[in-house]
Amino acid sequence: MTLIAVTKVFPAPVIEEAWEAGLREFGENYVQEFEGKAPRVRGLSGARFHLIGHLQSNKTRKAAELFDAVQTIDSEKIARRLNEAAAASGRQLEAMIEVKLSGEEAKHGAAPGDLELLVAAVSTLPALRLQGLMTMPPWSEDPEQSRPYFARLRELGARFRLPCLSMGMSNDFEAAIEEGATHIRVGTALFGRRRKP
Ligand SMILES: *Cc1c(COP(=O)(O)O)cnc(C)c1O
Repeated sequence: MTLIAVTKVFPAPVIEEAWEAGLREFGENYVQEFEGKAPRVRGLSGARFHLIGHLQSNKTRKAAELFDAVQTIDSEKIARRLNEAAAASGRQLEAMIEVKLSGEEAKHGAAPGDLELLVAAVSTLPALRLQGLMTMPPWSEDPEQSRPYFARLRELGARFRLPCLSMGMSNDFEAAIEEGATHIRVGTALFGRRRKP
């Protein structure tokens, strides 16, 4: 089980402190925000950085340079651009596909019905190593509301033989672990409440 410490909105010294406390996997939501912190934190020995926020196609080149893993691939177009950018900078990126399991308009992610083709396409891209699926259920106080989404992601992961499932945040990570999460993404429970970016 991998704990990804979500450090969006917090400045670089918070990442350094977390690293000193032993954390090694970090999640950031915004390419541009992380670009500002990267010079201070990218060199921390053993630290790895995951992009967990939506990736726009005009940010793929920067993302490929800055991150070790991208969890939010949700279209073939983004995957191809990211692959080209990673190859151009001589890098291999870990990749996950973000799946949209709720009907919320604002959420990003691939529809479950599009996964078969997307998994096949991403698997052929040499600079991306497809490892699993990621999802974010609609926010709720009650972790039991998230559980069916976690169970659904586990089923999809099994169907496509993908070993990793990134699911669960501060309010619902216990339920996510019970449903098979391999990566949980925790911000507030580690660092306290964020101010609005
Ligand atoms: C902010 C964020 C998290 C962490 O949320 P917390 O509730 O602070 O633990 C996890 N995943 C994603 C995609 C996020 O944007």
